[in-house]
Parts: sequence; structure tokens; C-alpha cells
Amino acid sequence: MDIVVATNNNNKYREIVSILNFKQSRVLSLKDIDFNDKIIEDGQTYYDNARKKAQAIREKIQDKIILADDSGLEISALNNAPGVISARYLNGLSQKEKNAEIIKKLEKIDKLKRNAKFLCVVCLIMPDGESHFFNGVCEGHIAEEIQGERGFGYDPIFIPSGFLKTFGVLSEDIKNTISHRAIAFTRAKNFIVRSGLLE
Ligand code: IMP
Repeated sequence: MDIVVATNNNNKYREIVSILNFKQSRVLSLKDIDFNDKIIEDGQTYYDNARKKAQAIREKIQDKIILADDSGLEISALNNAPGVISARYLNGLSQKEKNAEIIKKLEKIDKLKRNAKFLCVVCLIMPDGESHFFNGVCEGHIAEEIQGERGFGYDPIFIPSGFLKTFGVLSEDIKNTISHRAIAFTRAKNFIVRSGLLE
């Protein structure tokens, strides 16, 4: 049984394939299934957006397992911004500029008050049409300067709890074990395996 992952973000896709680590089934991207429609992520919550992405695929494909995620960064000193609009936050700036702007906004914020978290919600649609949701949270704080170039998005400014370096510096293996996405997709994987559809 194939799995379709609803993302056009290559970095995310690579992370998800590595987290799922299914030996006997293919994990297909939207490109692989020739899905070119634009899915507008205008939901109020991560759940809404994850559901919307998964359902858009389900309308076209019914014989595969579908997984879609929505994720974001919440910074407590910024009233939990950028949150559900993380991808569109500070629109017009490059990701590097966005990261620099966040560091600047937090310039005067004490080390102990820089807490932040990444959140991820996965919507799974099984071939029988039932939807299931799984979430993952990765707690941490915002660094005082940009560090590293690994990963994507806000990785170079986010230091996960228990570590001294950002996801921009830490290895893929570490990120794919402790991240919000790792937690949510591992929960989804465990559910799929328990259902008996895949090993
Ligand atoms: P979406 O889940 O595709 O809507 O994207 C959410 C946005 O949140 C991404 O474009 C990134 O800016 C940010 N984001 C989500 N997860 C991560 C991550 O693991 N690292 C860095 N940024 C992330």
C-alpha cells in the first residue's frame, strides 16, 4: 500500500520519509502523483489546514493512505506569533531576513523569557475514508543569533530544550528524533502499523 504525503516542501518531504522509515511501501510526494492544484492554507488552526490538505488529495485518490501536516513556530514573547501563519509571516522578506527580524524583535528579551515551541498536526486519511489526527510539540527557545544552515524555515534560530545549538546546526538524525514533526508522524505511523495495513 502506497502512502501519499501532501507537501510541496522538499525539506519537509525528506524529513517525513526519514521519520516514517517504511521498508515495504512507497512514500509518494504530490509531484509523484501529479497533483498540481494549489491548496490555500487559510484555516484558523493547524487542524483545519492539515485536514484541508489531506481532503484535497482524498478527492482525487481513494486507494492510498494520505498524510498531510501543518506546522508552525510559536514564540511566547511575541504573543505566540507567527503561529498558524508561520509560512506567510513577514511576507516579502526572505527566510534569512525573517529569522534576523525575529532575533531583532527579541533583542531586549532575557534569555529565560525567549521560550518558543514548534507544533505539528498530522491528518491521516485511511483508504476507508476515516480521518485521524496526531500532534507533536517540540519545546525550546529562540537563539540570540542565527546559527547554522541545516534544515529549513526557522531552524537556524530555534534551540530545542536539552540542547545548546539550533536545529540549523544539529544533525538531521537528532531533528528527526525530537522534532514536532517526528513526534506527530511517529504517532501516525504507529496507528497505521496497529491497523495492520502496513508493517
Ligand atoms: P506549513 O506547515 O507548510 O504550513 O509550514 C509552516 C511554516 O512553519 C514553514 O514554512 C516554516 O516556516 C515553519 N516551520 C514548520 N516546521 C518547521 C521546522 O521543522 N523547521 C523550521 N521551520 C518550520
